[in-house]
Amino acid sequence: MLDNLTQRLSGIVKNLRGQARLTESNIQDALREVRLALLEADVALPVVKEFIAKVKDAALGQEVIGNLQPGQALIGVVNRELTKLMGEHNDALNLAAVPPAVILMAGLQGAGKTTSSGKLAKLLREQNKKKVLLVSCDVYRPAAIEQLRMLAQQLDVDFFPSDASQKPQDIALAAHDFAKKHHHDVLIVDTAGRLAVDEAMMAEIKDLHAALKPIETLFVVDAMTGQDAVNTAKAFGDALPLTGVILTKLDGDARGGAALSVRQVTGKPIKFVGVSEKPNGLEAFHPERMAQRILG
Ligand code: GDP
Repeated sequence: MLDNLTQRLSGIVKNLRGQARLTESNIQDALREVRLALLEADVALPVVKEFIAKVKDAALGQEVIGNLQPGQALIGVVNRELTKLMGEHNDALNLAAVPPAVILMAGLQGAGKTTSSGKLAKLLREQNKKKVLLVSCDVYRPAAIEQLRMLAQQLDVDFFPSDASQKPQDIALAAHDFAKKHHHDVLIVDTAGRLAVDEAMMAEIKDLHAALKPIETLFVVDAMTGQDAVNTAKAFGDALPLTGVILTKLDGDARGGAALSVRQVTGKPIKFVGVSEKPNGLEAFHPERMAQRILG
């Protein structure tokens, strides 16, 4: 069991008691604990370093007010900075496009793109009253197309059929035409992922992006991949003008450090989190809740 940060800091807090200000010397040990807590939560090392420097800047010279102890004051600073870094508020999807508003799903194989496409379709229908069309451009794994078809059927969402002999761009453009003709508000495009970042995958999704001009390009990433999430996020962020992130599998053991890393590396808001395998397991992202989770 990980102790939460407040408990971990309690010994240090005692030493700080009675001091009126946070200073370089009196917060050093406490910052070391914060650094450890972040690393244990799987935040990537360079992100931790940058974050600690920020917290130090924000904390130094702060007066410790009233009956607050310096340790608590520092936790307050850490919490505020974490929340600020992750975007302060929830960023909603932007669907302000001439219909259909296109949402392009990008990410590695197994990240949760197909599952999240289905969840998002359900959420947009139920919460935003949108008419949604789902399409898969994964021509490498026929099972992937079938997986989305079955999901669409289960959710009673419209599905545009495709098959492995077609080109991803042709599928996407045909689905777009169909959505326009049939007055769909939103077209969600599921794409092929690989087990690791490779050039062919990036070239293909860039082409899809150029052809579709999506209003939302969402990077789907598995929270359990911790440190690796940074490299993947960087590769996708460099290749595509991402508009947001879906962080999946937060129902697992992941402490959520990937949220901080991915946000920092892409500079893009996390819009949703995946919290179960089930179709209703997609929730709006809340920075302050994630800050709590990361701090343990
Ligand atoms: P894709 O290859 O990116 O399309 O990934 P899939 O959508 O096929 O998901 C891979 C696996 O992760 C599947 O077994 C999903 O059920 C599972 N999965 C996706 N999102 C979540 C989530 O938020 N929580 C859990 N527990 N499992 C998830």
